[in-house]
Amino acid sequence: MTKAIVYKFGGASVKDASAIKNLHRVLLNRLQSKMVVIISAMGKTTNSLEEILRLKYDQKDYYSNCAILRKNHLAICSELFEEQNPIFSIVENLFLQLERDLEQALHKDNYDQYYDRIVSYGEVLSTKIIHAYLCEQNFFCIWQDARELIVTDESFRSAKVNWSLTAKECKRQLEEKLRKFPVITQGFIGASASGKCTTLGREGSDFSAAIIAHSLRAKSVTIWKDVPGVLNADPKRFADTVKFDRIDYREAAEMTYYGASVIHPKTIKPLANLKIPLHVRSFIEPEGKGTIIGDFPEERHAVPTIVVKGQQVLVTFEVTDFTFISESHIHQVYAELERLRLGVNMLQTSAISISICVNEELFKLEQLVDEMSVHFKVRYNDGLQLMTVKNYNESAKNQFLGREGILMEQTTRSTIQLVYKA
Ligand code: ASP
Ligand code: MG
Repeated sequence: MTKAIVYKFGGASVKDASAIKNLHRVLLNRLQSKMVVIISAMGKTTNSLEEILRLKYDQKDYYSNCAILRKNHLAICSELFEEQNPIFSIVENLFLQLERDLEQALHKDNYDQYYDRIVSYGEVLSTKIIHAYLCEQNFFCIWQDARELIVTDESFRSAKVNWSLTAKECKRQLEEKLRKFPVITQGFIGASASGKCTTLGREGSDFSAAIIAHSLRAKSVTIWKDVPGVLNADPKRFADTVKFDRIDYREAAEMTYYGASVIHPKTIKPLANLKIPLHVRSFIEPEGKGTIIGDFPEERHAVPTIVVKGQQVLVTFEVTDFTFISESHIHQVYAELERLRLGVNMLQTSAISISICVNEELFKLEQLVDEMSVHFKVRYNDGLQLMTVKNYNESAKNQFLGREGILMEQTTRSTIQLVYKA
């Protein structure tokens, strides 16, 4: 039995009409049986929907933002379709529904649920438009609502997947359809067992691809990006980046943990568990080989991997009574971090203090400082960056350890980490 293949296209790959035409070409040249195509919202649509929600929450006028979003989607349609195409009324209709949903009252305590319902329109709009366009070009495919595939709990905005129900629904909904046509569906969104719309967290479409691939025991997943593959560093920050041809699952998972944004951190595990290869390829140069992430435990890279994570805060907890730092102090700090669900990116202890580097989540940081000030003298610096250099060599060591503005550094056998003022 042929296994399915899963493709994922992010927002940048469908940001305008010419990008969508390009997507069509990429698919057409690779048409094969049993394709699932997962698509994000177009361009920065999710950000725009978040902005609309923020305005609504602050009881400001969000209507003109809605109008701009609607106009942008319709303008893309005008470039792709003849005037009388039914897609125009489909899009108009979705915007009417969105506006109607926005008219409903928004309370502080149901904000996350409301958020999921509103931002999901981005993915529904893009997949409706692209599905219609592909069919119009005689690339016949089936539109599938991802909320019928991905079953989650009700932790809105970062929903947890119910893997067994999801596998059941994916098989039930997709196997038959895939025997006939490729299926187009949305990334990022799912639904709880009782039918409430949920989302998997920002940039979650990569994870959607992995969930569906895992559920169908697919042959492979390909994430189509605007870079030639996985590079050893962000080309926007560093010159002379190198593309990796192959990366072991474990290495890739670590890269995402340290903040490499090329793939969503949750994507690797469901694929690695079933040894499903993950390809990262360029939609700009689709003939390029890209990177394969797979089971390559022997793979050694000749160049170090550099990951920079912004918006970091360095918090130092200092004992006030001349005791030395002990396990119980660390326990105290970590218990509070767990309560706030704030992950530590780097930790260092000294005789009288504990320092941690965490993501800048203002509201949580305030609570952390307040709570801990009872037991410690707490200081913090914000607006920092955390750089991780994996598999470093002498020249990387010289280059990075000497840099200015370092507030905390750590060197292990394989990794250098630095927290510094950006
Ligand atoms: N559209 C969502 C976002 O921008 C999900 C994704 O693109 O992966 O976060
Ligand atoms: Mg995206």
